[in-house]
Parts: sequence; structure tokens; C-alpha cells
Amino acid sequence: MDLSEHAEIKNTWAGCIFRVKTGARVKEELGADYPEFVAELIYLNWIRGTIFALLSLFAFALIMLFDLHYYQADKWEVSIGYPILFYSHMSVFMLFTAGIGLSWMKRPEKTGRPSRYHQVLIAAFLWLAMLNLVAISIADVFINGSIAAYIGVVFSLAAIFIISNWFCLFLYLSNMAVMVFFVNVAAAYTGKDFGIQQINIVTFTAFAVALSRLIYYAHIRDFKNRKLIKRQKHRLLELSVRDHLTNVLNRRSFAEISDMETARSKRHGGPLSLIIFDFDNFKCINDRFGHSAGDAVLIHSAELIQQNIRKTDTLFRWGGEEFIILSPETTLEDVAALADKLRLLIEAFVFPGGVKVTASFGVAQFAPGESIEDTVQRADKALYQAKGAGRNCVEKQPAHFFSC
Ligand code: GH3
Ligand code: MG
Ligand code: MG
Repeated sequence: MDLSEHAEIKNTWAGCIFRVKTGARVKEELGADYPEFVAELIYLNWIRGTIFALLSLFAFALIMLFDLHYYQADKWEVSIGYPILFYSHMSVFMLFTAGIGLSWMKRPEKTGRPSRYHQVLIAAFLWLAMLNLVAISIADVFINGSIAAYIGVVFSLAAIFIISNWFCLFLYLSNMAVMVFFVNVAAAYTGKDFGIQQINIVTFTAFAVALSRLIYYAHIRDFKNRKLIKRQKHRLLELSVRDHLTNVLNRRSFAEISDMETARSKRHGGPLSLIIFDFDNFKCINDRFGHSAGDAVLIHSAELIQQNIRKTDTLFRWGGEEFIILSPETTLEDVAALADKLRLLIEAFVFPGGVKVTASFGVAQFAPGESIEDTVQRADKALYQAKGAGRNCVEKQPAHFFSC
């Protein structure tokens, strides 16, 4: 992953209609993120389904009062549409109550692997809900010849739920077939011509399917862009805390981590020490073997050090060919022993191209009343002494040296 990766912006009506992505294509596009994408869709549809059912429940409870009013007004004798209306309202009411009950019982996870149980349940709920709403629309056709309710149903469902291509086709086409069939029945029953309504049903279903696809693709794009932002954020964070050559923490991270360690040492009274080391005559290494051989020495020695310090110790690149190791719970004597162990390891190591190097070490222990910068200064002084003492050795700077 590099930071030049761009967010996706294309998402056009034409794209949705003419470049329909198959399930396999979506899977391929999202790669390892696909299961998480499916899990998120299930979760979103589940939540939306619950809210949709809850709001509708109140609406249908009120509407059923009208149905009873029509019944008392002997409207049920006028058209078969009125009893259809009542029973489909009741059926929606029962379906939504069951849906809400199931929804509370076992909610899907927002992330992680998709759950088949929830996927099947939400698909069945959506299909049955649409079928019931279509039944209400059919009653409307019987009563006043209008398909307005059907148009409302297809567009609301398209706008609310995010569904895949095949399920979308199945959902809309099967329900459209039911609608067209019963409009024919209504035409025969009422003796009216519902030809225009039939054409409109097909046309509006096609538009609703297009809207549903637009929303689905917009969601894929949104998911991909969110993933991209997350990856880039992680990468930026890595870049800001690590040195790009050796991949160890950089000087900026030292400030943060040393702050934490000094606070811990002050609070619990445990010793905290540090090592600063610098490669000897590194200029000569570069001059003799080339800059890239010098780089390789830095990379390999960083690895070598990492492998030979405790998990609680932290290695930082201080700058150039200078490194710092922060060592909590370690006294001056112990950190000097560690420095000597590392010195011997570096001395013995044969770097790529047969390069051999040595390093000089300065060590100091964090003392009460001083800042970590003071400790670094003392360790640096010790390093300077190590250089003066002929290099490839370890020097200590006890705290009392600092005060004079
Ligand atoms: P001394 O023993 O006194 O430390 O001698 P030295 O030659 O190491 O002296 P000095 O510290 O002044 O020089 C450091 C050299 O390290 C100079 C610089 O070119 C080299 N250096 C610093 N950073 C890098 C790097 O990332 N890669 C390589 N290849 N060389 C580097
Ligand atoms: Mg040097
Ligand atoms: Mg140096």
C-alpha cells in the first residue's frame, strides 16, 4: 500500500445500468475485505429493517382503525379491495411485530464474518414485507385504480435497503409479477382498462431497481474509500513514528515513550537506563564500501539489536548512525553489561559484502530530579569518552558527574 492510492469517485447512473457488477466481480474488487463488507450490509439492513418495521407498526395500527371504520360504514360490500386492505394491513402488522421480536433476540455483529442466520432472515423479511406492501397496493388498485402505493413501496425499499444485484432482481421482479398479475385480476373484476397502470408498474420498477443499484454501488465505493482511509492513516502513523531506513522508532517517538517511562519510574521508583551508541569511523565504511553498504549495516544492526534486547527495551534511531536504547527496570551496571553484550555482537557480525564494523557506547541511568534529556546528555558525554578512549568500548556516566 502506498499513499498515492486514490479514493474512488465514479458512480454514475449510466455506470450502474450498463456496467452491472456481478457478485464475483464485487468479491474480486473487495478481496480480503469482502466478508467484512457483507457483514456490514447485513448489519445495516438489519438496523434499518428494525427501524422501518417499528415506524410502520405505529402507522399501520392507525391505518387499521380506518379499515374498521370502512367496515362499519359497510364499504366492504362495495369492493373486495377493502377486506384485502384490512387483511394485508394485519399481515404486515404481524410480520413487523415478529421481525422486531427476532431483531431484539439476536443482533448481528457490525464487523467480522457475515452470519448466514441473519442474512437469510433479513432477506426473508424484506421479501415478505414487500409482498405484503404489494398486497396493500393491489387493494388500492381494486378500490380506486391507483398504483401510487406500489410506486411508494418500490422507491422506499430501494432507498432504505442496500442489497446485492441478484437479490434485488429477485425481490423486484417477483413482486412486480405479483402486482401485474393482480392488476389484471382487478381489471377483470372492475371491468376497467388498467393497461397504462401495467406499463407504469414496469417502468417504475425499472427505475427503482436502478436507484437500488446506485445505492448499492455507492455503498461499495464508500466501503472501499473508508478502508483506504484506514490503511493510509495506519501508514501515515507508521511513517510518523518510524525511521524509513531501519524501520525502528524515530527520535520523535523517543520523546513520547521516554515521557511514559520516566513517569512510570518516578511513580514506582524502578530504575530506568539508556544506552546511546554510534558506529565507529562510519564515514570510512561509506567511503570504502559505498553508501548502500553503509545503509545495509544500519538495517542489519538494527535487526541484530532488536533480537538481542528485552521486549520491554526500545530501540530508536537517534539520527545518522547513532541509536538509543531505552531500558526500563534496569540499573546502570546492568545496562552497561547489556551495552557490552551488544558491542561484542556488532564486532563479531559480518555485514553484507563482508563489512565489519564496531561501535562505541555511552550509558547513563535516569536520576531523580533530572529530565530524560539530561540523562541523554550524560549518556552522550559517556559516548564521547568512549570515542576518546579508542572506540569499540562502553563508558558510563553516573548522575553525580552531571551536577558538576
Ligand atoms: P566516529 O567514530 O567518530 O563516530 O566517526 P564517524 O566517521 O562515524 O563520524 P561521524 O559520526 O561524524 O560520521 C557519521 C557518518 O555516518 C557520516 C554519514 O555519512 C554517515 N551516515 C549517517 N547516516 C547514514 C545513513 O543513513 N546511511 C549511511 N550509509 N551513512 C550514514
Ligand atoms: Mg560515528
Ligand atoms: Mg555520529
